[in-house]
Amino acid sequence: MAYEELKQEIIDYSKSIGIDKVGFASVDVFTELKSRLERQQDLGYQSGFEKGSVEERTNPVKLMPEAQSIISIALAYPSRLKDAPKSKKGERRGLFCRASWGKDYHDILRDKLEKLAAFLSEKVYGFNYRSMVDTGELSDRAVAERAGIGFSGKNTTLITPEFGSYVYLGEMITNVPFTPDEPVEDSCGECTKCIDACPTGALVQGGQLNAQKCIAFLTQTKDFLPDEYRGKLGNRIYGCDTCQLVCPKNRKKDFHLHPEMEPDPEVVKPKLVPLLSMSNREFKEKFGDIAGSWRGKKPIQRNAIIALGHYKEESAVEELIRLMKKDPRPVIRGTAAWSLGKIGTEEAFEAIEAAKQIETDEQVQFEMDKGLEFKETARQHA
Ligand code: SF4
Ligand code: SF4
Repeated sequence: MAYEELKQEIIDYSKSIGIDKVGFASVDVFTELKSRLERQQDLGYQSGFEKGSVEERTNPVKLMPEAQSIISIALAYPSRLKDAPKSKKGERRGLFCRASWGKDYHDILRDKLEKLAAFLSEKVYGFNYRSMVDTGELSDRAVAERAGIGFSGKNTTLITPEFGSYVYLGEMITNVPFTPDEPVEDSCGECTKCIDACPTGALVQGGQLNAQKCIAFLTQTKDFLPDEYRGKLGNRIYGCDTCQLVCPKNRKKDFHLHPEMEPDPEVVKPKLVPLLSMSNREFKEKFGDIAGSWRGKKPIQRNAIIALGHYKEESAVEELIRLMKKDPRPVIRGTAAWSLGKIGTEEAFEAIEAAKQIETDEQVQFEMDKGLEFKETARQHA
Protein backbone atom coordinates (compact mmCIF):
# COMPACT_ATOMS: atom_id res chain seq x y z
CA MET A 1 0.00 0.00 0.00
CA ALA A 2 2.83 2.33 0.90
CA TYR A 3 4.21 1.81 -2.57
CA GLU A 4 0.88 2.79 -4.15
CA GLU A 5 1.15 6.14 -2.39
CA LEU A 6 4.76 6.49 -3.42
CA LYS A 7 3.76 5.74 -7.00
CA GLN A 8 1.40 8.71 -6.95
CA GLU A 9 4.11 10.87 -5.40
CA ILE A 10 6.45 9.85 -8.22
CA ILE A 11 3.84 10.76 -10.83
CA ASP A 12 3.34 14.18 -9.21
CA TYR A 13 7.05 14.80 -8.75
CA SER A 14 7.77 13.73 -12.34
CA LYS A 15 5.28 16.27 -13.61
CA SER A 16 6.90 18.97 -11.51
CA ILE A 17 10.31 18.35 -13.12
CA GLY A 18 9.00 18.27 -16.68
CA ILE A 19 8.46 14.57 -17.32
CA ASP A 20 5.38 14.38 -19.52
CA LYS A 21 4.39 10.78 -18.84
CA VAL A 22 5.50 8.11 -16.42
CA GLY A 23 4.59 4.43 -16.19
CA PHE A 24 5.57 1.36 -14.20
CA ALA A 25 6.52 -2.05 -15.54
CA SER A 26 7.44 -5.45 -14.16
CA VAL A 27 10.92 -6.92 -14.59
CA ASP A 28 9.69 -10.11 -16.27
CA VAL A 29 11.70 -11.30 -19.25
CA PHE A 30 10.62 -9.58 -22.49
CA THR A 31 9.87 -12.87 -24.22
CA GLU A 32 8.29 -11.49 -27.39
CA LEU A 33 11.14 -9.05 -27.86
CA LYS A 34 13.60 -11.84 -27.25
CA SER A 35 12.29 -13.94 -30.10
CA ARG A 36 12.07 -10.85 -32.36
CA LEU A 37 15.69 -9.96 -31.62
CA GLU A 38 16.80 -13.51 -32.28
CA ARG A 39 14.91 -13.47 -35.58
CA GLN A 40 16.46 -10.10 -36.47
CA GLN A 41 19.90 -11.43 -35.67
CA ASP A 42 19.32 -14.46 -37.92
CA LEU A 43 18.10 -12.25 -40.76
CA GLY A 44 20.93 -9.70 -40.36
CA TYR A 45 18.47 -6.84 -39.73
CA GLN A 46 20.47 -5.27 -36.87
CA SER A 47 22.08 -1.84 -37.05
CA GLY A 48 25.26 -2.75 -35.20
CA PHE A 49 24.65 0.05 -32.68
CA GLU A 50 22.90 -2.33 -30.24
CA LYS A 51 24.37 -2.78 -26.76
CA GLY A 52 24.62 -6.07 -24.87
CA SER A 53 23.60 -9.65 -25.65
CA VAL A 54 20.02 -10.64 -26.46
CA GLU A 55 19.83 -12.10 -22.94
CA GLU A 56 20.87 -8.79 -21.32
CA ARG A 57 18.60 -6.79 -23.59
CA THR A 58 15.54 -8.77 -22.61
CA ASN A 59 16.09 -9.70 -18.98
CA PRO A 60 16.24 -6.72 -16.57
CA VAL A 61 17.38 -8.97 -13.71
CA LYS A 62 20.53 -9.76 -15.68
CA LEU A 63 21.35 -6.04 -15.54
CA MET A 64 20.47 -5.54 -11.89
CA PRO A 65 20.04 -8.71 -9.79
CA GLU A 66 17.85 -6.99 -7.16
CA ALA A 67 15.53 -5.48 -9.82
CA GLN A 68 11.83 -5.35 -8.85
CA SER A 69 10.30 -2.82 -11.23
CA ILE A 70 11.06 -0.45 -14.09
CA ILE A 71 9.93 3.17 -14.23
CA SER A 72 9.49 4.38 -17.79
CA ILE A 73 9.48 8.08 -18.63
CA ALA A 74 8.49 10.01 -21.76
CA LEU A 75 9.11 13.60 -22.83
CA ALA A 76 7.27 15.09 -25.79
CA TYR A 77 9.27 16.91 -28.48
CA PRO A 78 8.24 19.37 -31.18
CA SER A 79 7.40 18.19 -34.69
CA ARG A 80 7.17 21.54 -36.48
CA LEU A 81 9.81 24.14 -37.11
CA LYS A 82 8.74 27.67 -36.42
CA ASP A 83 9.95 30.09 -39.14
CA ALA A 84 11.59 27.31 -41.14
CA PRO A 85 13.95 28.76 -43.75
CA LYS A 86 13.15 27.75 -47.35
CA SER A 87 15.48 25.45 -49.24
CA LYS A 88 15.81 27.19 -52.61
CA LYS A 89 17.94 27.03 -55.74
CA GLY A 90 21.39 28.41 -55.02
CA GLU A 91 20.84 27.91 -51.29
CA ARG A 92 19.80 24.32 -50.73
CA ARG A 93 19.34 23.06 -47.20
CA GLY A 94 19.57 19.67 -45.53
CA LEU A 95 17.47 18.38 -42.66
CA PHE A 96 18.17 16.72 -39.33
CA CYS A 97 15.35 14.45 -38.11
CA ARG A 98 13.07 15.68 -35.35
CA ALA A 99 14.62 13.49 -32.65
CA SER A 100 17.78 15.52 -33.17
CA TRP A 101 16.21 18.94 -32.74
CA GLY A 102 17.21 21.02 -29.73
CA LYS A 103 19.67 20.00 -27.06
CA ASP A 104 20.73 16.34 -27.12
CA TYR A 105 17.82 14.46 -25.51
CA HIS A 106 20.11 11.89 -23.92
CA ASP A 107 21.40 14.62 -21.61
CA ILE A 108 17.93 16.01 -20.91
CA LEU A 109 16.44 12.63 -20.00
CA ARG A 110 19.45 11.51 -17.99
CA ASP A 111 19.14 14.66 -15.95
CA LYS A 112 15.42 13.98 -15.28
CA LEU A 113 16.19 10.38 -14.30
CA GLU A 114 18.91 11.53 -11.92
CA LYS A 115 16.46 13.93 -10.25
CA LEU A 116 13.91 11.16 -9.95
CA ALA A 117 16.55 8.85 -8.43
CA ALA A 118 17.52 11.52 -5.88
CA PHE A 119 13.84 11.93 -5.00
CA LEU A 120 13.43 8.17 -4.50
CA SER A 121 16.63 7.89 -2.48
CA GLU A 122 15.07 10.28 0.02
CA LYS A 123 11.90 8.22 0.22
CA VAL A 124 13.10 4.62 0.18
CA TYR A 125 15.75 3.25 2.50
CA GLY A 126 18.32 1.25 0.55
CA PHE A 127 17.01 2.49 -2.80
CA ASN A 128 18.97 1.15 -5.74
CA TYR A 129 18.53 1.79 -9.43
CA ARG A 130 20.02 1.68 -12.87
CA SER A 131 18.82 4.12 -15.49
CA MET A 132 19.29 4.28 -19.25
CA VAL A 133 18.35 6.36 -22.26
CA ASP A 134 18.52 4.97 -25.78
CA THR A 135 22.04 3.57 -25.58
CA GLY A 136 21.47 1.13 -22.70
CA GLU A 137 20.79 -2.59 -23.03
CA LEU A 138 17.03 -2.44 -22.55
CA SER A 139 14.67 -1.49 -25.36
CA ASP A 140 13.15 1.85 -24.31
CA ARG A 141 10.19 1.09 -26.52
CA ALA A 142 9.48 -2.37 -25.09
CA VAL A 143 9.68 -1.02 -21.53
CA ALA A 144 7.43 1.95 -22.33
CA GLU A 145 4.93 -0.34 -23.99
CA ARG A 146 4.78 -2.61 -20.96
CA ALA A 147 4.51 0.40 -18.66
CA GLY A 148 1.42 1.70 -20.46
CA ILE A 149 3.11 4.78 -21.98
CA GLY A 150 1.89 3.84 -25.46
CA PHE A 151 1.72 1.02 -28.01
CA SER A 152 4.26 -0.14 -30.53
CA GLY A 153 3.19 0.95 -34.01
CA LYS A 154 3.88 -0.79 -37.30
CA ASN A 155 6.48 1.94 -37.92
CA THR A 156 8.37 0.54 -34.89
CA THR A 157 7.93 3.69 -32.84
CA LEU A 158 6.17 3.96 -29.49
CA ILE A 159 2.88 5.78 -30.05
CA THR A 160 1.34 7.57 -27.09
CA PRO A 161 -2.31 8.65 -27.11
CA GLU A 162 -1.30 12.15 -25.91
CA PHE A 163 1.79 13.07 -27.93
CA GLY A 164 1.80 10.60 -30.82
CA SER A 165 5.23 9.09 -31.45
CA TYR A 166 7.10 12.35 -30.94
CA VAL A 167 8.41 11.31 -27.53
CA TYR A 168 11.82 10.58 -26.09
CA LEU A 169 11.95 7.58 -23.81
CA GLY A 170 14.10 6.53 -20.90
CA GLU A 171 13.81 4.16 -17.98
CA MET A 172 15.04 3.27 -14.55
CA ILE A 173 15.28 -0.25 -13.17
CA THR A 174 14.61 -0.08 -9.42
CA ASN A 175 14.65 -2.39 -6.42
CA VAL A 176 11.18 -1.18 -5.33
CA PRO A 177 8.25 -3.54 -6.02
CA PHE A 178 5.84 -1.06 -7.63
CA THR A 179 2.68 -2.53 -9.13
CA PRO A 180 2.87 -2.50 -12.93
CA ASP A 181 0.54 -0.35 -15.06
CA GLU A 182 -1.75 -1.68 -17.78
CA PRO A 183 -0.50 -1.53 -21.37
CA VAL A 184 -2.24 0.75 -23.91
CA GLU A 185 -4.21 -1.05 -26.63
CA ASP A 186 -2.53 -1.35 -30.05
CA SER A 187 -4.61 0.75 -32.45
CA CYS A 188 -2.84 0.61 -35.82
CA GLY A 189 -5.71 -1.54 -37.06
CA GLU A 190 -5.70 -2.04 -40.83
CA CYS A 191 -3.57 1.06 -41.46
CA THR A 192 -0.35 0.52 -43.44
CA LYS A 193 0.54 4.14 -44.26
CA CYS A 194 4.02 3.96 -42.75
CA ILE A 195 4.89 0.74 -44.57
CA ASP A 196 3.65 2.17 -47.87
CA ALA A 197 5.50 5.47 -47.41
CA CYS A 198 8.90 4.10 -46.38
CA PRO A 199 11.23 5.03 -49.25
CA THR A 200 13.42 1.94 -48.91
CA GLY A 201 10.99 -0.79 -47.83
CA ALA A 202 12.72 -1.03 -44.46
CA LEU A 203 9.50 -1.84 -42.58
CA VAL A 204 8.85 -5.48 -43.03
CA GLN A 205 5.63 -7.27 -42.10
CA GLY A 206 4.48 -4.39 -39.92
CA GLY A 207 6.41 -3.97 -36.71
CA GLN A 208 9.78 -5.26 -37.92
CA LEU A 209 12.54 -2.99 -39.09
CA ASN A 210 15.42 -3.96 -41.31
CA ALA A 211 17.91 -1.43 -39.95
CA GLN A 212 20.27 -2.16 -42.83
CA LYS A 213 17.71 -0.62 -45.19
CA CYS A 214 16.49 2.18 -42.93
CA ILE A 215 17.59 5.70 -43.90
CA ALA A 216 17.72 6.72 -40.24
CA PHE A 217 20.51 4.15 -39.79
CA LEU A 218 22.14 4.63 -43.19
CA THR A 219 22.64 8.37 -42.60
CA GLN A 220 24.79 7.46 -39.60
CA THR A 221 27.21 5.15 -41.41
CA LYS A 222 30.66 6.44 -42.30
CA ASP A 223 31.59 4.51 -45.41
CA PHE A 224 30.34 4.98 -48.98
CA LEU A 225 26.56 4.87 -49.04
CA PRO A 226 25.39 1.94 -51.20
CA ASP A 227 24.20 3.16 -54.62
CA GLU A 228 20.61 2.00 -54.24
CA TYR A 229 20.05 4.33 -51.29
CA ARG A 230 21.67 7.50 -52.61
CA GLY A 231 18.62 8.47 -54.62
CA LYS A 232 16.38 7.86 -51.60
CA LEU A 233 18.13 10.19 -49.21
CA GLY A 234 16.60 13.42 -50.54
CA ASN A 235 17.74 16.25 -48.31
CA ARG A 236 18.02 14.11 -45.16
CA ILE A 237 21.46 14.59 -43.65
CA TYR A 238 20.66 12.84 -40.37
CA GLY A 239 17.78 10.48 -39.64
CA CYS A 240 14.43 10.05 -41.33
CA ASP A 241 10.93 10.96 -40.15
CA THR A 242 8.81 9.76 -43.06
CA CYS A 243 7.10 6.86 -41.26
CA GLN A 244 6.18 9.19 -38.41
CA LEU A 245 5.05 12.07 -40.60
CA VAL A 246 2.51 9.93 -42.44
CA CYS A 247 1.13 8.34 -39.26
CA PRO A 248 -2.45 9.43 -38.52
CA LYS A 249 -1.70 9.15 -34.79
CA ASN A 250 0.68 12.08 -35.18
CA ARG A 251 -1.84 14.37 -36.80
CA LYS A 252 -1.69 17.80 -35.13
CA LYS A 253 0.81 16.55 -32.55
CA ASP A 254 3.34 19.30 -32.02
CA PHE A 255 4.37 19.96 -28.45
CA HIS A 256 6.70 22.72 -27.34
CA LEU A 257 6.85 21.89 -23.63
CA HIS A 258 10.61 22.09 -23.06
CA PRO A 259 12.56 25.24 -23.95
CA GLU A 260 15.80 23.24 -24.32
CA MET A 261 14.19 21.15 -27.06
CA GLU A 262 13.37 24.16 -29.23
CA PRO A 263 15.23 23.74 -32.51
CA ASP A 264 17.34 26.45 -34.08
CA PRO A 265 16.24 26.35 -37.74
CA GLU A 266 19.73 27.31 -38.94
CA VAL A 267 21.15 24.30 -37.11
CA VAL A 268 18.57 21.63 -37.91
CA LYS A 269 17.93 22.82 -41.47
CA PRO A 270 21.39 24.09 -42.40
CA LYS A 271 22.62 25.36 -45.76
CA LEU A 272 24.41 22.48 -47.47
CA VAL A 273 27.33 24.14 -49.23
CA PRO A 274 28.86 25.83 -46.13
CA LEU A 275 28.74 22.45 -44.38
CA LEU A 276 31.28 21.07 -46.83
CA SER A 277 34.16 23.32 -45.81
CA MET A 278 33.59 23.33 -42.04
CA SER A 279 36.55 22.65 -39.77
CA ASN A 280 36.06 20.19 -36.90
CA ARG A 281 35.92 23.09 -34.48
CA GLU A 282 33.27 24.94 -36.48
CA PHE A 283 31.25 21.73 -36.77
CA LYS A 284 31.40 21.18 -33.03
CA GLU A 285 30.43 24.75 -32.30
CA LYS A 286 27.41 24.64 -34.57
CA PHE A 287 26.19 21.05 -34.15
CA GLY A 288 27.96 19.76 -31.02
CA ASP A 289 24.87 20.14 -28.79
CA ILE A 290 22.45 18.16 -30.93
CA ALA A 291 22.03 14.39 -30.92
CA GLY A 292 22.65 14.19 -34.68
CA SER A 293 26.32 15.09 -34.34
CA TRP A 294 27.30 11.99 -32.36
CA ARG A 295 28.91 10.28 -35.35
CA GLY A 296 30.98 13.34 -36.17
CA LYS A 297 31.33 15.48 -39.26
CA LYS A 298 32.02 12.90 -41.96
CA PRO A 299 28.63 11.19 -42.36
CA ILE A 300 26.84 14.56 -42.28
CA GLN A 301 29.14 15.93 -44.98
CA ARG A 302 28.80 12.78 -47.08
CA ASN A 303 25.01 13.07 -46.87
CA ALA A 304 25.14 16.79 -47.67
CA ILE A 305 27.13 15.97 -50.82
CA ILE A 306 24.52 13.40 -51.85
CA ALA A 307 21.71 15.90 -51.13
CA LEU A 308 23.39 18.46 -53.42
CA GLY A 309 23.47 15.82 -56.15
CA HIS A 310 19.79 15.10 -55.52
CA TYR A 311 19.00 18.80 -56.02
CA LYS A 312 21.37 19.04 -59.03
CA GLU A 313 22.64 22.15 -57.33
CA GLU A 314 24.93 23.84 -59.84
CA SER A 315 26.13 26.47 -57.40
CA ALA A 316 27.84 23.64 -55.46
CA VAL A 317 29.98 22.48 -58.36
CA GLU A 318 33.03 24.55 -57.46
CA GLU A 319 33.05 23.35 -53.85
CA LEU A 320 32.48 19.74 -54.87
CA ILE A 321 35.39 19.90 -57.32
CA ARG A 322 37.59 21.20 -54.53
CA LEU A 323 36.55 18.29 -52.29
CA MET A 324 37.00 15.72 -55.05
CA LYS A 325 40.52 16.94 -55.69
CA LYS A 326 41.77 17.86 -52.25
CA ASP A 327 39.84 16.20 -49.41
CA PRO A 328 42.00 13.62 -47.62
CA ARG A 329 39.01 11.32 -47.00
CA PRO A 330 38.32 8.87 -49.88
CA VAL A 331 34.59 8.67 -48.97
CA ILE A 332 34.27 12.42 -49.39
CA ARG A 333 36.33 12.58 -52.62
CA GLY A 334 34.43 9.69 -54.17
CA THR A 335 30.97 10.86 -53.11
CA ALA A 336 31.78 14.34 -54.43
CA ALA A 337 32.68 12.81 -57.79
CA TRP A 338 29.39 10.88 -57.87
CA SER A 339 27.45 14.00 -56.94
CA LEU A 340 29.21 16.08 -59.61
CA GLY A 341 28.11 13.50 -62.17
CA LYS A 342 24.53 13.77 -60.86
CA ILE A 343 24.61 17.54 -61.21
CA GLY A 344 25.86 16.92 -64.73
CA THR A 345 27.28 20.23 -65.99
CA GLU A 346 30.09 20.25 -68.58
CA GLU A 347 32.43 21.73 -65.96
CA ALA A 348 31.57 18.91 -63.54
CA PHE A 349 32.32 16.14 -66.06
CA GLU A 350 35.56 17.76 -67.19
CA ALA A 351 36.68 18.04 -63.57
CA ILE A 352 35.92 14.37 -62.88
CA GLU A 353 37.90 13.31 -65.96
CA ALA A 354 40.88 15.46 -64.97
CA ALA A 355 40.82 14.30 -61.33
CA LYS A 356 40.65 10.67 -62.42
CA GLN A 357 44.07 11.00 -64.02
CA ILE A 358 45.70 11.71 -60.68
CA GLU A 359 43.46 9.77 -58.26
CA THR A 360 45.18 6.72 -56.79
CA ASP A 361 42.44 5.26 -54.56
CA GLU A 362 40.58 2.49 -56.38
CA GLN A 363 37.25 3.07 -54.68
CA VAL A 364 37.36 6.76 -55.49
CA GLN A 365 38.23 5.96 -59.09
CA PHE A 366 35.23 3.64 -59.16
CA GLU A 367 33.00 6.47 -57.90
CA MET A 368 34.46 8.75 -60.57
CA ASP A 369 33.48 6.23 -63.23
CA LYS A 370 29.98 6.17 -61.79
CA GLY A 371 29.90 9.96 -61.93
CA LEU A 372 30.96 9.88 -65.57
CA GLU A 373 28.24 7.36 -66.37
CA PHE A 374 25.69 10.12 -65.76
CA LYS A 375 27.08 11.85 -68.85
CA GLU A 376 24.92 9.75 -71.12
CA THR A 377 21.78 10.59 -69.10
CA ALA A 378 22.76 14.27 -69.08
CA ARG A 379 23.14 14.20 -72.89
CA GLN A 380 19.74 12.59 -73.36
CA HIS A 381 18.13 15.34 -71.27
CA ALA A 382 20.04 18.15 -73.03
S1 SF4 B 1 12.81 5.98 -40.69
FE1 SF4 B 1 12.53 6.28 -42.90
S2 SF4 B 1 13.66 4.63 -43.89
FE2 SF4 B 1 13.43 4.08 -41.70
S3 SF4 B 1 11.58 2.84 -41.63
FE3 SF4 B 1 10.92 4.96 -41.28
S4 SF4 B 1 10.39 5.76 -43.34
FE4 SF4 B 1 11.59 3.87 -43.61
S1 SF4 C 1 1.02 4.87 -39.99
FE1 SF4 C 1 -0.69 3.55 -39.45
S2 SF4 C 1 0.20 1.49 -39.33
FE2 SF4 C 1 1.88 2.95 -39.24
S3 SF4 C 1 2.24 3.28 -37.07
FE3 SF4 C 1 0.84 4.88 -37.74
S4 SF4 C 1 -1.21 4.05 -37.34
FE4 SF4 C 1 0.22 2.34 -37.25
